[in-house]
Amino acid sequence: MKPQLPSLRQLATVGLLTSSAGLLLSACSDSGDNETSETAQEPTEVTVYSARAEHLIQPIFERYTEETGVKVRYITDNAGALIQRLKAEGSNTPADLLLTVDAGNLWQASQEGLFQPVESEVLERNIPEHLQADDNEWFGLSVRARTIVYSTERVDPSELSTYEALADDQWEGRLCLRTAKKVYNQSLVATMINTLGEEQTEEIVGGWVDNLATQPHSNDTSAMEAVLAGQCDVTLVNTYYFGRLQKENPDVKLAIFWPNQDGRGVHVNVSGAGLTRHAKQPEAAKDLLEWLSSPQAQEAFAEANQEYPANDSVEPSDFVAEWGDFKADSVNVESAGRLQSDAIKLMDRVNYR
Ligand code: FE
Repeated sequence: MKPQLPSLRQLATVGLLTSSAGLLLSACSDSGDNETSETAQEPTEVTVYSARAEHLIQPIFERYTEETGVKVRYITDNAGALIQRLKAEGSNTPADLLLTVDAGNLWQASQEGLFQPVESEVLERNIPEHLQADDNEWFGLSVRARTIVYSTERVDPSELSTYEALADDQWEGRLCLRTAKKVYNQSLVATMINTLGEEQTEEIVGGWVDNLATQPHSNDTSAMEAVLAGQCDVTLVNTYYFGRLQKENPDVKLAIFWPNQDGRGVHVNVSGAGLTRHAKQPEAAKDLLEWLSSPQAQEAFAEANQEYPANDSVEPSDFVAEWGDFKADSVNVESAGRLQSDAIKLMDRVNYR
Protein backbone atom coordinates (compact mmCIF):
# COMPACT_ATOMS: atom_id res chain seq x y z
CA MET A 1 0.00 0.00 0.00
CA LYS A 2 1.06 3.55 -0.61
CA PRO A 3 2.36 5.31 2.52
CA GLN A 4 0.51 8.49 3.36
CA LEU A 5 3.46 10.76 2.89
CA PRO A 6 3.85 13.82 0.74
CA SER A 7 5.75 12.95 -2.38
CA LEU A 8 9.18 14.40 -2.96
CA ARG A 9 7.60 16.86 -5.32
CA GLN A 10 5.18 18.05 -2.65
CA LEU A 11 8.08 18.39 -0.27
CA ALA A 12 10.02 20.41 -2.78
CA THR A 13 7.14 22.86 -3.18
CA VAL A 14 7.49 23.68 0.50
CA GLY A 15 10.75 25.18 -0.71
CA LEU A 16 12.75 23.99 2.22
CA LEU A 17 14.88 21.28 0.76
CA THR A 18 17.95 22.71 2.39
CA SER A 19 19.44 19.64 3.98
CA SER A 20 23.09 18.91 3.50
CA ALA A 21 22.07 15.89 1.52
CA GLY A 22 19.55 17.98 -0.39
CA LEU A 23 17.34 14.98 -0.86
CA LEU A 24 15.08 12.83 1.16
CA LEU A 25 17.02 9.63 1.19
CA SER A 26 15.67 6.18 1.61
CA ALA A 27 17.81 3.85 3.65
CA CYS A 28 16.81 0.93 1.52
CA SER A 29 16.16 0.40 -2.13
CA ASP A 30 12.74 0.31 -3.66
CA SER A 31 13.20 -3.30 -4.53
CA GLY A 32 9.51 -4.03 -4.43
CA ASP A 33 9.85 -7.03 -2.18
CA ASN A 34 7.18 -6.42 0.35
CA GLU A 35 7.73 -8.43 3.50
CA THR A 36 4.58 -7.07 5.06
CA SER A 37 2.23 -7.57 2.13
CA GLU A 38 0.00 -9.92 4.07
CA THR A 39 -0.72 -7.20 6.64
CA ALA A 40 -1.95 -4.49 4.35
CA GLN A 41 -2.50 -2.03 7.21
CA GLU A 42 1.13 -2.17 8.28
CA PRO A 43 2.86 1.11 7.47
CA THR A 44 5.99 0.45 5.49
CA GLU A 45 7.82 3.75 5.86
CA VAL A 46 8.97 6.01 8.67
CA THR A 47 10.48 9.41 7.99
CA VAL A 48 13.26 10.76 10.18
CA TYR A 49 14.80 14.22 10.30
CA SER A 50 18.28 13.61 11.65
CA ALA A 51 20.96 15.91 12.99
CA ARG A 52 23.05 12.82 13.44
CA ALA A 53 25.24 12.39 10.39
CA GLU A 54 24.20 10.12 7.56
CA HIS A 55 27.09 7.68 7.87
CA LEU A 56 26.11 7.08 11.52
CA ILE A 57 22.43 6.40 10.97
CA GLN A 58 22.24 4.77 7.55
CA PRO A 59 23.64 1.36 8.59
CA ILE A 60 21.31 1.28 11.61
CA PHE A 61 18.25 2.12 9.55
CA GLU A 62 19.24 -0.47 6.96
CA ARG A 63 19.34 -3.07 9.69
CA TYR A 64 15.94 -2.01 10.91
CA THR A 65 14.53 -2.42 7.43
CA GLU A 66 16.15 -5.86 7.13
CA GLU A 67 14.62 -6.96 10.43
CA THR A 68 11.15 -5.47 10.06
CA GLY A 69 10.53 -4.66 6.41
CA VAL A 70 9.77 -1.08 7.42
CA LYS A 71 11.64 1.45 5.33
CA VAL A 72 13.24 4.49 6.90
CA ARG A 73 13.47 7.68 4.88
CA TYR A 74 15.61 10.44 6.27
CA ILE A 75 17.26 13.76 5.71
CA THR A 76 20.24 15.03 7.63
CA ASP A 77 21.01 18.61 8.56
CA ASN A 78 22.07 20.55 11.62
CA ALA A 79 19.64 20.68 14.53
CA GLY A 80 18.74 24.35 14.10
CA ALA A 81 17.84 23.90 10.45
CA LEU A 82 15.73 20.80 11.14
CA ILE A 83 13.86 22.55 13.96
CA GLN A 84 13.15 25.54 11.70
CA ARG A 85 12.03 23.20 8.96
CA LEU A 86 9.64 21.33 11.25
CA LYS A 87 8.18 24.64 12.43
CA ALA A 88 7.69 25.87 8.88
CA GLU A 89 6.13 22.62 7.71
CA GLY A 90 3.70 22.42 10.60
CA SER A 91 1.11 19.72 10.12
CA ASN A 92 2.35 19.12 6.56
CA THR A 93 5.65 17.72 7.72
CA PRO A 94 6.53 14.25 6.48
CA ALA A 95 8.76 13.78 9.54
CA ASP A 96 7.73 11.18 12.11
CA LEU A 97 10.85 11.39 14.28
CA LEU A 98 13.36 14.12 15.00
CA LEU A 99 16.76 12.70 15.89
CA THR A 100 19.26 15.21 17.19
CA VAL A 101 22.24 15.71 19.45
CA ASP A 102 22.43 17.42 22.82
CA ALA A 103 19.64 17.68 25.36
CA GLY A 104 19.74 21.44 24.79
CA ASN A 105 18.51 20.93 21.22
CA LEU A 106 15.95 18.28 22.21
CA TRP A 107 14.62 20.61 24.86
CA GLN A 108 14.44 23.43 22.31
CA ALA A 109 12.40 21.29 19.92
CA SER A 110 10.13 20.35 22.78
CA GLN A 111 9.65 24.01 23.74
CA GLU A 112 8.70 24.77 20.14
CA GLY A 113 5.90 22.21 20.44
CA LEU A 114 7.42 19.94 17.81
CA PHE A 115 7.14 16.69 19.78
CA GLN A 116 4.36 14.62 21.29
CA PRO A 117 4.81 12.37 24.33
CA VAL A 118 5.42 8.67 23.85
CA GLU A 119 4.11 6.34 26.53
CA SER A 120 6.19 3.21 26.23
CA GLU A 121 7.14 0.59 28.78
CA VAL A 122 9.97 -0.46 26.50
CA LEU A 123 11.51 3.01 26.44
CA GLU A 124 11.01 3.46 30.18
CA ARG A 125 12.79 0.18 30.77
CA ASN A 126 15.63 0.79 28.31
CA ILE A 127 16.45 4.46 28.89
CA PRO A 128 17.40 5.71 32.37
CA GLU A 129 15.20 8.40 33.86
CA HIS A 130 17.84 11.15 33.79
CA LEU A 131 18.45 10.64 30.06
CA GLN A 132 14.89 11.32 28.97
CA ALA A 133 12.39 14.18 29.10
CA ASP A 134 10.11 14.29 32.13
CA ASP A 135 7.08 14.49 29.87
CA ASN A 136 8.35 11.66 27.61
CA GLU A 137 8.68 13.96 24.61
CA TRP A 138 12.19 12.71 23.88
CA PHE A 139 14.54 9.92 24.84
CA GLY A 140 18.33 9.80 24.91
CA LEU A 141 19.76 7.11 22.62
CA SER A 142 23.49 7.52 23.14
CA VAL A 143 25.65 9.19 25.75
CA ARG A 144 28.72 11.34 25.25
CA ALA A 145 30.87 12.66 28.06
CA ARG A 146 32.20 16.22 27.89
CA THR A 147 35.48 15.84 29.63
CA ILE A 148 39.03 17.12 30.00
CA VAL A 149 41.61 16.21 27.35
CA TYR A 150 45.22 17.07 28.14
CA SER A 151 48.66 17.01 26.56
CA THR A 152 50.50 13.90 27.74
CA GLU A 153 53.74 15.78 27.02
CA ARG A 154 53.12 18.80 29.23
CA VAL A 155 50.53 17.78 31.81
CA ASP A 156 50.77 15.26 34.60
CA PRO A 157 47.25 13.96 35.28
CA SER A 158 47.86 14.47 39.01
CA GLU A 159 47.59 18.22 38.25
CA LEU A 160 43.98 17.74 37.15
CA SER A 161 40.92 17.35 39.34
CA THR A 162 37.71 19.17 38.39
CA TYR A 163 36.12 21.45 35.77
CA GLU A 164 36.18 24.14 38.46
CA ALA A 165 39.93 23.81 38.99
CA LEU A 166 40.58 24.78 35.35
CA ALA A 167 39.77 28.30 36.58
CA ASP A 168 42.81 28.26 38.92
CA ASP A 169 45.89 30.38 38.24
CA GLN A 170 47.86 27.23 37.57
CA TRP A 171 46.15 27.02 34.15
CA GLU A 172 46.72 30.62 33.12
CA GLY A 173 47.51 30.70 29.40
CA ARG A 174 47.18 26.92 29.19
CA LEU A 175 43.47 26.38 28.50
CA CYS A 176 41.70 26.13 25.13
CA LEU A 177 37.91 26.07 24.81
CA ARG A 178 35.39 25.67 22.08
CA THR A 179 33.24 28.67 21.26
CA ALA A 180 30.36 29.53 23.60
CA LYS A 181 28.09 29.67 20.56
CA LYS A 182 27.87 25.91 20.26
CA VAL A 183 25.29 24.12 22.37
CA TYR A 184 27.84 21.74 23.97
CA ASN A 185 29.47 24.23 26.33
CA GLN A 186 26.13 25.95 26.86
CA SER A 187 24.79 22.64 28.16
CA LEU A 188 27.85 22.09 30.33
CA VAL A 189 27.48 25.54 31.88
CA ALA A 190 23.71 25.07 32.25
CA THR A 191 24.17 21.88 34.27
CA MET A 192 26.80 23.68 36.38
CA ILE A 193 24.28 26.42 37.12
CA ASN A 194 21.80 23.71 38.06
CA THR A 195 24.19 22.14 40.55
CA LEU A 196 26.44 24.97 41.75
CA GLY A 197 24.17 27.96 41.34
CA GLU A 198 24.64 30.97 39.14
CA GLU A 199 27.15 32.89 41.25
CA GLN A 200 29.67 30.11 41.65
CA THR A 201 29.31 29.05 38.02
CA GLU A 202 29.96 32.61 36.85
CA GLU A 203 33.13 32.75 38.92
CA ILE A 204 34.38 29.48 37.43
CA VAL A 205 33.54 30.27 33.81
CA GLY A 206 35.09 33.73 34.24
CA GLY A 207 38.21 31.99 35.52
CA TRP A 208 38.29 29.78 32.43
CA VAL A 209 38.12 32.85 30.21
CA ASP A 210 41.00 34.44 32.15
CA ASN A 211 43.05 31.30 31.56
CA LEU A 212 42.44 31.03 27.81
CA ALA A 213 45.57 30.69 25.71
CA THR A 214 43.78 31.33 22.42
CA GLN A 215 40.47 32.65 21.15
CA PRO A 216 37.72 30.04 21.54
CA HIS A 217 37.84 27.40 18.84
CA SER A 218 35.12 26.68 16.31
CA ASN A 219 34.99 23.00 17.18
CA ASP A 220 36.31 20.39 19.60
CA THR A 221 38.78 18.96 17.12
CA SER A 222 40.48 22.28 16.50
CA ALA A 223 40.71 22.83 20.29
CA MET A 224 42.53 19.48 20.60
CA GLU A 225 44.75 20.34 17.63
CA ALA A 226 45.74 23.53 19.46
CA VAL A 227 46.81 21.39 22.42
CA LEU A 228 48.80 19.15 20.07
CA ALA A 229 50.41 22.22 18.51
CA GLY A 230 51.53 23.41 21.94
CA GLN A 231 49.29 26.49 22.03
CA CYS A 232 47.61 25.23 25.18
CA ASP A 233 47.76 22.19 27.46
CA VAL A 234 44.15 21.28 28.28
CA THR A 235 40.72 21.53 26.76
CA LEU A 236 37.14 20.30 27.18
CA VAL A 237 35.68 18.06 24.49
CA ASN A 238 33.12 15.39 23.79
CA THR A 239 34.69 11.98 24.08
CA TYR A 240 33.89 10.87 20.53
CA TYR A 241 35.97 13.71 19.07
CA PHE A 242 38.92 12.45 21.06
CA GLY A 243 38.05 8.97 19.77
CA ARG A 244 38.24 10.18 16.17
CA LEU A 245 41.74 11.62 16.70
CA GLN A 246 42.81 8.47 18.49
CA LYS A 247 41.47 6.26 15.69
CA GLU A 248 43.51 8.25 13.16
CA ASN A 249 46.59 8.25 15.34
CA PRO A 250 46.70 5.69 18.16
CA ASP A 251 49.84 7.39 19.54
CA VAL A 252 48.31 10.84 19.69
CA LYS A 253 49.94 12.77 22.55
CA LEU A 254 46.63 13.46 24.25
CA ALA A 255 44.67 11.67 26.95
CA ILE A 256 41.29 11.78 28.60
CA PHE A 257 40.89 12.82 32.22
CA TRP A 258 37.64 12.20 34.10
CA PRO A 259 37.00 15.23 36.34
CA ASN A 260 34.86 15.63 39.46
CA GLN A 261 35.09 11.97 40.41
CA ASP A 262 34.84 12.83 44.12
CA GLY A 263 31.85 15.05 43.45
CA ARG A 264 29.07 15.31 40.94
CA GLY A 265 30.84 13.37 38.19
CA VAL A 266 31.56 14.00 34.51
CA HIS A 267 29.10 16.03 32.47
CA VAL A 268 27.30 13.72 30.09
CA ASN A 269 24.90 14.59 27.33
CA VAL A 270 22.89 12.60 24.82
CA SER A 271 21.88 12.18 21.28
CA GLY A 272 18.20 11.38 21.26
CA ALA A 273 14.92 11.44 19.46
CA GLY A 274 11.26 12.26 19.82
CA LEU A 275 8.03 11.59 17.98
CA THR A 276 6.96 14.67 16.02
CA ARG A 277 3.65 16.29 16.89
CA HIS A 278 2.32 15.80 13.38
CA ALA A 279 3.76 12.34 12.73
CA LYS A 280 1.87 10.56 9.96
CA GLN A 281 3.02 7.14 11.18
CA PRO A 282 3.10 7.51 14.97
CA GLU A 283 2.85 3.79 15.73
CA ALA A 284 5.55 2.82 13.25
CA ALA A 285 7.73 5.67 14.50
CA LYS A 286 7.27 4.54 18.09
CA ASP A 287 8.29 1.01 17.05
CA LEU A 288 11.48 2.40 15.50
CA LEU A 289 12.22 4.49 18.60
CA GLU A 290 11.73 1.46 20.84
CA TRP A 291 13.96 -0.63 18.60
CA LEU A 292 16.68 2.04 18.70
CA SER A 293 16.64 1.77 22.52
CA SER A 294 16.89 -2.01 22.47
CA PRO A 295 20.14 -3.86 23.24
CA GLN A 296 20.41 -5.13 19.67
CA ALA A 297 20.44 -1.59 18.22
CA GLN A 298 22.14 0.25 21.07
CA GLU A 299 25.49 -1.38 20.58
CA ALA A 300 25.73 -0.35 16.94
CA PHE A 301 24.11 3.05 17.51
CA ALA A 302 26.67 3.99 20.16
CA GLU A 303 29.65 2.35 18.51
CA ALA A 304 29.11 4.15 15.19
CA ASN A 305 30.10 7.42 16.88
CA GLN A 306 32.26 5.98 19.67
CA GLU A 307 29.66 6.90 22.25
CA TYR A 308 28.24 5.13 25.27
CA PRO A 309 24.94 3.26 24.94
CA ALA A 310 22.08 5.05 26.72
CA ASN A 311 20.67 1.64 27.62
CA ASP A 312 22.89 0.68 30.55
CA SER A 313 22.43 -3.04 30.00
CA VAL A 314 24.68 -2.59 26.95
CA GLU A 315 28.47 -2.33 27.22
CA PRO A 316 30.39 0.32 25.29
CA SER A 317 32.69 -0.86 22.51
CA ASP A 318 36.16 -2.15 23.47
CA PHE A 319 37.70 0.98 21.95
CA VAL A 320 35.58 3.28 24.15
CA ALA A 321 35.92 1.04 27.21
CA GLU A 322 39.71 1.56 26.98
CA TRP A 323 39.20 5.12 28.20
CA GLY A 324 38.25 3.67 31.57
CA ASP A 325 35.26 3.76 33.86
CA PHE A 326 34.04 7.01 35.28
CA LYS A 327 31.32 8.42 37.45
CA ALA A 328 28.86 10.43 35.35
CA ASP A 329 26.84 13.37 36.58
CA SER A 330 23.34 12.00 37.12
CA VAL A 331 21.62 15.38 36.90
CA ASN A 332 18.70 15.16 34.49
CA VAL A 333 20.08 16.29 31.13
CA GLU A 334 16.86 18.23 30.63
CA SER A 335 18.35 20.93 32.87
CA ALA A 336 20.76 21.64 30.02
CA GLY A 337 17.79 22.96 28.07
CA ARG A 338 15.90 24.55 30.91
CA LEU A 339 18.91 26.66 31.92
CA GLN A 340 20.30 27.18 28.41
CA SER A 341 19.40 30.86 28.10
CA ASP A 342 20.79 31.55 31.59
CA ALA A 343 24.00 29.81 30.54
CA ILE A 344 24.28 31.87 27.35
CA LYS A 345 23.79 35.11 29.31
CA LEU A 346 26.31 34.06 31.93
CA MET A 347 28.93 33.21 29.30
CA ASP A 348 28.33 36.54 27.64
CA ARG A 349 28.76 38.41 30.95
CA VAL A 350 32.23 36.92 31.44
CA ASN A 351 33.18 37.64 27.80
CA TYR A 352 33.21 33.99 26.81
CA ARG A 353 32.39 34.22 23.12
FE1 FE B 1 29.36 16.74 17.93
